Amino acid sequence: MPFFEEKWETMSQDQLREIQFEKFKTQAHRVCNSPFIKNRFAEKGLEPGDIKNWEDIETVPFMSKSDLRDNYPRGLVSGDWEDVVRVHMTSGTTGVPTPMMYSKNDLDVWTACMARNFTAGGLKKSDIIQQSHGYGLFTGGFGFHYGMEAVGAKIIPTGAGGTERQLRLMKEWGTTVFTGTPSYAVYMAEFAAEKGIDPVKDLKLRLGFHGGEPCSDELRERINDRLGYKAHGGGMRRCYGLTEMGGPISMDCEYENGIHLWADHYLVEVLDPETMKPAGKDQPGELVVSNLSFEVMPLLRYRTGDHVVASFDKCECGRTHPRITTFLGRLDDMILVGGTNIFPCQVEYILLNHHELSENWQIIVGERKGLHTMKIEIEPTTWTDVDEHFIEALEKELHQQLAKKCEVEIKPIGSLPRFEGKAVRVIDHRT
Ligand SMILES: [Zn+2]
Repeated sequence: MPFFEEKWETMSQDQLREIQFEKFKTQAHRVCNSPFIKNRFAEKGLEPGDIKNWEDIETVPFMSKSDLRDNYPRGLVSGDWEDVVRVHMTSGTTGVPTPMMYSKNDLDVWTACMARNFTAGGLKKSDIIQQSHGYGLFTGGFGFHYGMEAVGAKIIPTGAGGTERQLRLMKEWGTTVFTGTPSYAVYMAEFAAEKGIDPVKDLKLRLGFHGGEPCSDELRERINDRLGYKAHGGGMRRCYGLTEMGGPISMDCEYENGIHLWADHYLVEVLDPETMKPAGKDQPGELVVSNLSFEVMPLLRYRTGDHVVASFDKCECGRTHPRITTFLGRLDDMILVGGTNIFPCQVEYILLNHHELSENWQIIVGERKGLHTMKIEIEPTTWTDVDEHFIEALEKELHQQLAKKCEVEIKPIGSLPRFEGKAVRVIDHRT
């Protein structure tokens, strides 16, 4: 098993904890250069020098997405603005963007995290990559690009979209690695099939690094089958990250038993969302992350809003750092329908367990006589397998699993939208 920075990736957990604590203390001083954060500390009667042991970390105030928006654009810069060499931000289509700024050193840390991930996922110098995460304000494209370049692999920076050309390039160049959202991987598989191309026979794809949206195990297996990753000896690796953490920073290794996060650069806490105390071993909770290495805009105890189960045990691959083993859902994506919380990835899990159903689906939320309604529109894989008994049984299963009544409508193949970036899974018609 090759490593990118073996010494760091396999360091003993005791040593990692010591490093984390020292770095946390330094960052506490740094973040207080932002008057907003200094004030946050002061509201709790806390000064950065008060952090003397691990328990004191639990007194440090949380940060959240609204803090980033309220301080847009530069209010949370705690390093030197002169050192900034790059700015990324979320698209801000639903409001004020969430920004992140980087010094040269910050970019080097990010690149190293990504290069560790790609190496752990099986990327080699000999690989030819089509990098189709978007280059631009979004962190994905650049994060992937520089990480893969550091490994020394051959990148074709296609960016997002242009599916016909993407497919042509895959054939002409013998591309072995494909990146982009899971939804785009699904669309690529479908597009190839329409063009009479069998990825297992006609292409050489062996690895997929897909991020930017949640992906169930079931969807990952389908992508593995349909793009030929497993048939060519590799597999699909999921990627996780947020702009607020610095971008995509964590991925599956070859053992696929959790998404690795790097403890020398990030302190990971999984907290019970009710009490905001540690959730306990193997218990689900909200992922809270402290950036221990960035110098321009590090955030301590950032509430990601993502509900996960994490493992702090050593991985089979030899890496000693924590892993997200289950991704239960993103709070931002959660919808409240008639008093019930629904995570779209929960729905995906149920639907894709049926081989009769395709990966093309959406949730329609509406209102009827003052009550909230939920309908799932989905395309089948073939028409022949889906009859009214199947639909009835599926509606029953969804009702039981989601604790919410839900209508299912089977749509003609090709009628629902396809996505070259993040999929839109929820259409909300409520006023
Ligand atoms: Zn591993």
